[in-house]
Order: sequence, then structure tokens, then C-alpha cells
Amino acid sequence: MHFNYSTYSLKLKHKFTIARGSEEVVPVVLVYFTKDGVTGVGEAAPSDRYDEDALRITKYLSTLSFEGISANGSLDEWLDWAMAKADGIRSLEAAFDLALHDLHGKLNDEPTYAHFGADRASACTTSFTIGIDDKEKIREKVLEADIYPLLKVKLGSDHDKDIINTIREVTNKLIRVDANEGWDLEEGKRMCDWLAERNIEFVEQPFPAENLEDTARLREYSPLELMADENCIDSSSIPEIDGAFDGINIKLMKCGGLREASQMIRMARERDMKIMLGCMVETSVAITAAATLSPLVDYADLDGNILTTNDPFDGVKVEDGKLILPEGPGLGISLKA
Ligand SMILES: [Mg+2]
Repeated sequence: MHFNYSTYSLKLKHKFTIARGSEEVVPVVLVYFTKDGVTGVGEAAPSDRYDEDALRITKYLSTLSFEGISANGSLDEWLDWAMAKADGIRSLEAAFDLALHDLHGKLNDEPTYAHFGADRASACTTSFTIGIDDKEKIREKVLEADIYPLLKVKLGSDHDKDIINTIREVTNKLIRVDANEGWDLEEGKRMCDWLAERNIEFVEQPFPAENLEDTARLREYSPLELMADENCIDSSSIPEIDGAFDGINIKLMKCGGLREASQMIRMARERDMKIMLGCMVETSVAITAAATLSPLVDYADLDGNILTTNDPFDGVKVEDGKLILPEGPGLGISLKA
């Protein structure tokens, strides 16, 4: 088994602003495992919210020896070995996990969605994200998003009602709101009441992650369901937040890959919690990987590749908002011509 990696700078179509800050260029790390001339590809899209960055990952990878992985081991043995090598960096765990699932699928002629028992025809419809902006830009972005039946709107700004009102001047389509930890209890109550009359599907992460008690209070009060993002890192988060949230947002870059994400899906189902698959700004490698699990969940917010101008890969497609999984073995990714 051979290992390689490279960095890539994803450029965003529009400067992307959420409650925490803005970005225009997003560096990601691509990793490759090769066996018998077949290569699996994975991706780390590190987030500074979780104290991870591409430079730290490449510095770490440059010191790493990949001797010792048994080329004849099972997929679980490969994953156990790789997780131990990732130094606790979640996005790097995800990169290894994705590349090894891709490689394993290609070597066994099995699509990754089939490996997880997912029915390709039942993939979710994805929302399209509108970042925080001024009225004119918001209107422009909503018109650009015309082909997407669902919007995800970032709030937690000082002009949240203006943002929603501006969108409602243009469209009545269903909106998911993500406050990215931007509210306090009073504002959360006020906004949930106000939003509930404006065709909103749910509210994601109203309060800072450390403020779980107020989240439980808001859940008692709110007419809208609450989804956990920054409060839900991996499967170990789920028992702790059960009761404070109605559902969870699983991201490969938070939980460390597909194997852990599938464990989270099992645990959330046992607790009757809703499940969404989310993403960072990512290439089609990580977006397609997350999409392979979308037939198993309730909601998808997998548009991180669509927000960019220079995605080097082809993978999952979106038709009228619905995710169309590639049919090939592994993740089904190819480099763009
Ligand atoms: Mg979120």
C-alpha cells in the first residue's frame, strides 16, 4: 500500500459569511492510498472552529511513516490502523477513512453506498446555502439558487429579520435556518416564534455549544425543531444532547469519516432523533462521500462543492435539488477532464 497527499485551494463564488466570520479561499488536503495499481482518494477540509488547519495537517503528514499497514487486511483493520495514525485530527481521520473506503470499494467492485446498505435511488434533496450578506447580495444569491427547492439560510447576524424578509420578497420556498451559535435564549425564543410563521423547516444550532441548558429550554418553547451541529461532533455527543435537540447534523470532517457517521446514524435512529448530513466547503470527494449515506438520513445539506468555482472532481450531481449518486465502485469520483 502506498500513500500520497497534496493540498488544493478551493475558491468560493461569493465571499461566504456566517456568524463566526468570512472566507473566500479554502485550503483542503487530498490523500491517496494505492494498492495493486488502484487508488482511493480522500479529503480533509479542516475547520478553524475545531482548531484544525491545512498547514498543520501537511506538516504532520510530512513526518508520517506509512510502513506497517497490512495490504491484505480487512477494511476495518485498515481503518483502525489509519485512525491511530491521524493524531486526533478529525478532518485527517475523515480523509483516511474516505480514501480507504474508496480503495476498498474499487478493489471489490462495490459502490460505497452499497457497502452501507444505502439505496442509490433514495438519496436526499439537498439544500443550497445562503451566507450572511447585505440585501442586494442576498437577493442576487437567492435568484442564482432558483434551481434548488430548499434554502439553508445563515443567521446569527445583527439583521436576521431583514435577511429573511429579503428572501421572502423573492421566494416562498422552504427555508432551513442555521444560527451558528449566534443567539442567546431571549433572541432564540423571539426568532423561533417569528420564523415559525415564515415557512421555516427547522433551526440549527441556535446557541453556543457550551450553552446546552438554554438549548433544552428553547426546545421546550420553540414551535420549530432544533438541530445540533456544533453540539454534535461524533457518536459520543449523542447521549449528551438527546433531549436538548430534535436532531443532529453529521459532518464527516467533525466525526472522522463514514464508519463513524454510520454509527451516529444508528444511534440517532435508536433515539428517534432526526438526522441531517452537512458539510464544510469541500471538493466533490468529501461531498460525494457524505452523499453515499444520504439515503439513510432525513435531510441533506451537501452543497459545499457547489459554492466553489474550481472543484477538480466529478462525483455526485444535483438534479432539481436531488442528489444523484455516481454508479461506479468506491465513491465513484473521477478527475474532471
Ligand atoms: Mg451548521
